[in-house]
Amino acid sequence: MSKAQDWFGTLRGFDLGNGRQGALYALPQLEKAGVGPVSRLPVSIRLVLESVLRNCDGKRVLEQHVRALANWKPNAARTEEIPFVVARIVLQDFTGVPLLVDLAAMRSALARLGRDPKRVEPLVPVDLVVDHSVQVDYYGTAEALTKNLELEFKRNRERYEFLKWGMQAFETFKVVPPGIGIVHQVNLEYLAKGVLSCPSTVNDQPSTLFYPDTLVGTDSHTTMINGLGIVGWGVGGIEAEAGMLGQPVYFLTPDVVGVNLTGALREGVTATDVALTVTQMLRKAKVVGKFVEYFGPGAAALPVVDRATIANMAPEYGATLGLFPVDEECVKYLRATGRSEEHCRIYENYYRAQGLFGIPKRGEIDYSVELELDLGTVVPSVAGPKRPQDRIELPNLKREFLAALTRPITENGFGRAAAEVGKSFEVAVKTGLPAGGGSRKSVSAGEGQLRHGSVLIAAITSCTNTSNPSVMLAAGLLAKKAVERGLQVNPLVKASLAPGSRVVTDYLNQTGLQPYLDQLGFNLVGYGCMTCIGNSGPLPAPVDEALSKHDVVAASVLSGNRNFEARVHQSIKANFLMSPPLVVAFALAGRVDVDLSREPVGQGKGGEDVYLKDIWPSLQEVRELMHTALKPEVFQRLYRDFVGQNPKWNEIPVKAGEVYQWDAGSTYIQEPPFFQEFGVQPGEIREIKGARPLAIFGDSVTTDHISPAASIRKTSPAGKYLIERGVAVEDFNSYGSRRGNDRVMTRGTFANVRIKNLMVPGTEGGVTRCFAGKGCECAPGETVSIYDAAMAYQKEGTPLVVIAGQEYGTGSSRDWAAKGTALLGVKAVVAQSFERIHRSNLVGMGVLPLQFKEGTNAQTLKLDGTETFDVLGLGPGLKPQQELSLRLTRANGQVETVPVTCRIDTRIEIEYYRHGGILPYVLRQLAAQSPGSEATAKG
Ligand code: SF4
Repeated sequence: MSKAQDWFGTLRGFDLGNGRQGALYALPQLEKAGVGPVSRLPVSIRLVLESVLRNCDGKRVLEQHVRALANWKPNAARTEEIPFVVARIVLQDFTGVPLLVDLAAMRSALARLGRDPKRVEPLVPVDLVVDHSVQVDYYGTAEALTKNLELEFKRNRERYEFLKWGMQAFETFKVVPPGIGIVHQVNLEYLAKGVLSCPSTVNDQPSTLFYPDTLVGTDSHTTMINGLGIVGWGVGGIEAEAGMLGQPVYFLTPDVVGVNLTGALREGVTATDVALTVTQMLRKAKVVGKFVEYFGPGAAALPVVDRATIANMAPEYGATLGLFPVDEECVKYLRATGRSEEHCRIYENYYRAQGLFGIPKRGEIDYSVELELDLGTVVPSVAGPKRPQDRIELPNLKREFLAALTRPITENGFGRAAAEVGKSFEVAVKTGLPAGGGSRKSVSAGEGQLRHGSVLIAAITSCTNTSNPSVMLAAGLLAKKAVERGLQVNPLVKASLAPGSRVVTDYLNQTGLQPYLDQLGFNLVGYGCMTCIGNSGPLPAPVDEALSKHDVVAASVLSGNRNFEARVHQSIKANFLMSPPLVVAFALAGRVDVDLSREPVGQGKGGEDVYLKDIWPSLQEVRELMHTALKPEVFQRLYRDFVGQNPKWNEIPVKAGEVYQWDAGSTYIQEPPFFQEFGVQPGEIREIKGARPLAIFGDSVTTDHISPAASIRKTSPAGKYLIERGVAVEDFNSYGSRRGNDRVMTRGTFANVRIKNLMVPGTEGGVTRCFAGKGCECAPGETVSIYDAAMAYQKEGTPLVVIAGQEYGTGSSRDWAAKGTALLGVKAVVAQSFERIHRSNLVGMGVLPLQFKEGTNAQTLKLDGTETFDVLGLGPGLKPQQELSLRLTRANGQVETVPVTCRIDTRIEIEYYRHGGILPYVLRQLAAQSPGSEATAKG
């Protein structure tokens, strides 16, 4: 039990609603004490302020931090960093396994130094949900769920054994096993409490201290929880590890953009349409790195599930978070999802006592900028074919797709000749037959016409939408009407339904809608991310062959939030995001070059045309079924003892011990090299001299380009490595699932088949020109894999740089995009702009992010990759955002120097960089605290 410190005299009691009193750090008291105009601050800022106030200890968090944030100004230079101590951490398995590998490696390092390995222990609760590993191998059959789960356990057994070791080794680390749901939906429906408590001593009396539920997650879409009034966002695994080990999460004081929602959704419009509209609108408003907060009557009228869909897509609009403040709707949601009556009362009373209950009205809060959206103006939409912010109104999809088909690749098109547009190719397929052997019963095997715009994947997927019963029920209702009219899905379409929790299955069964989805091939394939993360599984071999032979621009339609190239499936180039009912509609139409507002979805029983309006469910029809979706007893039953309900998980043996016994033969889990030569003293910051470019990229290089999550090609460096170790190609699994093995991941860095290195014009995939001298057997300037070139440069001790365009590292938060970059030997990335998390991950791994000045880039400098680079001005006195010089020496000896901004943004990041990254920084602190720290350490 800790003693509550009270630097500002704000500790107060509040009524728990059960005759007892609890304690809180009262924000209104700060204002009364004259510290700052707290009641005018955005709600998100106040929730962070509560954490800063409560954790103010004069060491990690200082009095001045409280004063600065209490006096946040809507418009000011943003130079101050905020130390945010979060209440808990959520992980998914793709990022969680490598994080656990790092923690295990830190324990091994402490043990080697003769220190107590148990110093490495999460200080806040950590929940890992295993959701990213299951793949759509089987589909279109009632057995798909079981068979995909069996394959998942077979492929991932070693990783799951490792997770079980983590569960016994760390006290505050819990795992939600496979087959339960998707991390953000499980968080919304079960893990999130809204308000947390701990025993404390207040005024020398035992008490219970209450505080807001806040978190960071190692997944970009952690923001979905903002729909329930909870502050949280995605961070890199390295930052999350530091957060677990007692470091605050540091971030620059943000601008807060208020979005005034008015009006109400019209008939035919879904929450997904709003999310896509908001994404496009806020992208244009440049909210990157800012907080977004919704207010106004439209926001107040939205149910939590719709708010969560909108908040989920905050990374797509570029914001750090997208918060809907706590109000009656949140209390209603907590109650409906089985949280106890007593807890709901405390939750409401807590936020009322803090003056934080209710959605603000215009004029009540001072935002940096105010925007406005009338929900009544939102229309049915999709987004694609390559970016989530490229919204297309439904009637325009046909025109937009055909235009993109012939537009040059450099203008975000597919570069096809006009003569190619109408061509089609016969493909014979056994219906729905995947590599794993499923089959759709309702449609017979046959031939299909494959052409540009054919829909080959139709997936109801992603927590964005599967957490929202209104759109899931709408999909079921649309399927029912379609089946009743005699519509069928084309045999070429791989359809699937992958909800984010078992509650969805419960209500789709209760309402009798699942059998209709089944008849159209939307059988349940698993409870996990599946198609959303790129685990869409193989297409039937004849289809895949035809795609590559004829270079067809085929389409996927999915209810996800991301559609970057090769994310959904490596062979599918056009990917459209849309609501679940529209996914079913486009599966029925079988193509995206169709105007569903005028052209039929298909032909009914009697050969008559059936239009979208004939099968689209009304808002009233959806509303009538909503009560089936939010039953407290169903949530309580399905979220009770899910470990006990999971025999496959229980069959996995548990390795014991505080320090992990690494198995050199494992191809999944290896001790990473980060701490193998670890010493207790950091080095000094020095200039980078004579660096070679490993790659030159254009704009919008995503973390998936840098570190792909999807399948591993057998001809790639990672594929060759696995084959050398006796792994059969069918057992390769994905890069995402092998993030516990640095050998695979380093080879997979920049190995996305779609990445374009401008040093080798006209190529796709992870290749570069290598100019290594003594480290290399190839001819100077020869094209080789990026991995081989990096190793050759490492051998001769040449540092590397990567040059990039705008939005470098956009997409999912992915530490391996930074870890792999560091392990390849890249010392600096010079880009026109960086995505927020990726920039901080680079610093977290000791890689220097540098930003070109406006108007300068690889093209203006006429870089072709034959240059060498020096970064000048780096030294022990480095300051945040300092201007440095990039000196380039061309092959002909000509020298040019341009200024660049060092994107180490905060003082603490300078410390991280000096230590070679966050983890060495934290480990050195732990080693210093540990008994035996006086011993001399190796390294
Ligand atoms: S379903 Fe998609 S958005 Fe949700 S956690 Fe999984 S990958 Fe992320």
